Amino acid sequence: MKIRTVLCASMVPLALWAGSVTAQDYPTKQISLAIPFAAGGPTDTLGRNLAVVMSQQLKQQVIVENVPGAGGTIASNRVAKAKPDGYSLLLHHIGMSTAPALYRKLTFNPLTDYEYIGQVADVPMTVIAKTGLPPDNLAELIAYVKKNKEKLNLGNAGLGAASHLCGLLFMSRIEADITTIPYNGTAPAMTALMGGQIDLMCDQTTNTTQQIKSGRVKVYGVTTGQRIPSLSMVPTMAEQGMKGFEVSVWHGIYASKGTPKPVVDKLVAALQASVQDAQFKSRIGELGAQAVSKDKATPEGLAKHLKAEIDKWGPIIKKAGQYAD
Ligand code: ASP
Repeated sequence: MKIRTVLCASMVPLALWAGSVTAQDYPTKQISLAIPFAAGGPTDTLGRNLAVVMSQQLKQQVIVENVPGAGGTIASNRVAKAKPDGYSLLLHHIGMSTAPALYRKLTFNPLTDYEYIGQVADVPMTVIAKTGLPPDNLAELIAYVKKNKEKLNLGNAGLGAASHLCGLLFMSRIEADITTIPYNGTAPAMTALMGGQIDLMCDQTTNTTQQIKSGRVKVYGVTTGQRIPSLSMVPTMAEQGMKGFEVSVWHGIYASKGTPKPVVDKLVAALQASVQDAQFKSRIGELGAQAVSKDKATPEGLAKHLKAEIDKWGPIIKKAGQYAD
């Protein structure tokens, strides 16, 4: 009897509150878009471009908030625990699908703790190095790394970051382990690379395009099947003999579980308009990224892809013996 009273008392206001929200009631104030990595990096760049067009669509400011740390899991946890009112959103990438296998003490569940809004964009990666590194192409790089593996290091944005996964793949393909140095994002890692404190990195084109074009870093290949128009002078890894080294970083938008349906619907409509926006597409396109098609910018499109990616990465990570306590 007592238990029933408690349940009723806590559930009725929530039901009333959720049921009473209409599309007209939202948004009435600015919306936070959490970025799980440092400012100035690839996720931040995508998020800031998206925030401009989402703000126009929603007629409210979407503010980017950098919440870096622990390979993106701090921001993911924060949004999972946020009030489900549509004012705390998360932009995250492939790391959302690798976190369950990589982190033994994950405090959120990617499959149950969110309302999915939709996918945003796919971003290729590049294998880059500090300008002083002697090798001038991929074949030379492989030989050089194998010979000097004790002396070299590879920067990344923490366990589960795209740069971490791409770096692992590279090391396993060339069968040479080198020391990895984690940062809060690849923006600070890029500064370290350009300053010569680290030697190598595998990072998204949204962070590397300008540096490659201006000669501030060396590039050894793009991780796509075909060359990308924005970096057409850079050969693919496959072209240089490393077949199957294809990495594309997918991104999605999340709200916390229980966000009312009219709010989710409004966010989905704004996201769909954003991924079709010519300016958004061309601005991220100049950085090698590709906005997703409208059918992927949906809760179902994100849910399906996330689940498939969790199923794909779990066994690979477990086999590699990678995890954080
Ligand atoms: N997305 C990360 C960042 O924005 C980098 C990564 O995942 O490797 O810094």
